[in-house]
Amino acid sequence: MTHDDSRRLTKSDFLLYLDAPRHLWAKKNGRIEVPLSDFNRLLSEQGYAVEALARETLESVYLAAHPRADLFWQSRYADGPFEARADALMYWPDGGQYDLYEIKSSTGVDKTDLYDIAFQALVLHSQIDLHRCFVLHLNKEYIQAAVTDLAWLFVAEDVTEAVAALLPEVAELRQGALLAALAREPDELPHCLTPRDCPCPAVCHPGLPEFSIFDIPRLGQKKKAELLGMGIRDAAAIPPAFDLNAVQRAVAEGARTRRERLDRPALAAELARLRFPIWFLDYETCNLAVPRFPGYRPQQQVVFQYSLHCLDAPEGPLRHFGHIALSGGDPARELLEHLAGDLGGSGSVIVWNKTFEMTRNREMAGLHADFADFLEGVNARVYDLGEIVNRGIYLHPGFKGSWSIKNVLPVMVPELSYQGLPIHEGGQASMAWWRMACGDADAAQRETLRADLEHYCALDTLAMVEIYRRLAALL
Ligand code: SF4
Repeated sequence: MTHDDSRRLTKSDFLLYLDAPRHLWAKKNGRIEVPLSDFNRLLSEQGYAVEALARETLESVYLAAHPRADLFWQSRYADGPFEARADALMYWPDGGQYDLYEIKSSTGVDKTDLYDIAFQALVLHSQIDLHRCFVLHLNKEYIQAAVTDLAWLFVAEDVTEAVAALLPEVAELRQGALLAALAREPDELPHCLTPRDCPCPAVCHPGLPEFSIFDIPRLGQKKKAELLGMGIRDAAAIPPAFDLNAVQRAVAEGARTRRERLDRPALAAELARLRFPIWFLDYETCNLAVPRFPGYRPQQQVVFQYSLHCLDAPEGPLRHFGHIALSGGDPARELLEHLAGDLGGSGSVIVWNKTFEMTRNREMAGLHADFADFLEGVNARVYDLGEIVNRGIYLHPGFKGSWSIKNVLPVMVPELSYQGLPIHEGGQASMAWWRMACGDADAAQRETLRADLEHYCALDTLAMVEIYRRLAALL
């Protein structure tokens, strides 16, 4: 880090500080450990696409309505050590004033957006006559037709007053951010109590035990702080008398005793609810900021793949079905046409985290009314296998307090693993489909990506089959 770098504070630095002061310190000191995930890469690729369309909208819609105005893109301004680059500035020559347009891929304005614009406004006020501030974001009411309607796709929300109200606070906060950036050590900076997906875990919690108090499911901030105050970071060291709910207590006990826990009658009652043939269903989805298919809204999830395993009887053969939508038309329609043929009309439909699959089914029913009865019937048959872990009916210390299938599978079925698969998590799957359907993948890359996606999604349902079998064998 050069001296100059540490003394500059950009808008991105300020937002990192708001995220957590230690994140800014870690960035300034080269201590960010976690590379950008595929999910975040997908977000930024889509962000570029939104920005391009927003530019087109400002020029072809807003500027066309005000031909005397002028537009400036990505202008850089500085106010001492504080630097900002404005997405778009509209200049009104009559009054010599400017309007700021901040472009966002979201479908609304949130609190962070207001702090973001207030930071820019402070810098701009020192250099130009800034009149109004807008967030140009996607319109949540927009529904894609055959041709994109730019005038409808974006909404310019006037946030001038809300931003003005934040200026005194942001003026103080940016000084705090500068001090955080310049701090010699991170110790005096606050850290959060949810160290999951940390960008810099070693800065906040060096040497954190593998199974820590932060892995206890849904443990409140107060209790985490209380345990830390007692010098306890290891889940195994939580005193048996510490106030926890039943599932938390069972997880902590597992950490302490290293023994699994089974509520056999509850497991028997749950598995007795299942009807053969049992279907194991999993969807892969991709959030498209700008809808590409008629009927979709901005930021709507596109279901692009399913995997389906079928177990006809407890000892029966296993059949597999699956499809990836790549025809170029609406992926939901293509999938439903295949799924309705593959998924039989009777038997339980097992998923892992039913909210996700059931919500996608409801959304697809909204898009394609001719499949609404089919999808409603599927939802009526859904059984969430993950609930057996989530509700503490079967727990293993190896799950480390998580009910994610990615944590449960290696413990219950060690011979099956996501490790080594080119695609091994949902964000990568979304990115792969995005590259095939909307990106620049050539024919050879498409073939590889398709095969990788097939392996990944099939493993998701095979994992459920094998976990179901292991649970059934516990009875
Ligand atoms: S604990 Fe993790 S997420 Fe929290 S401030 Fe530290 S690095 Fe960030």
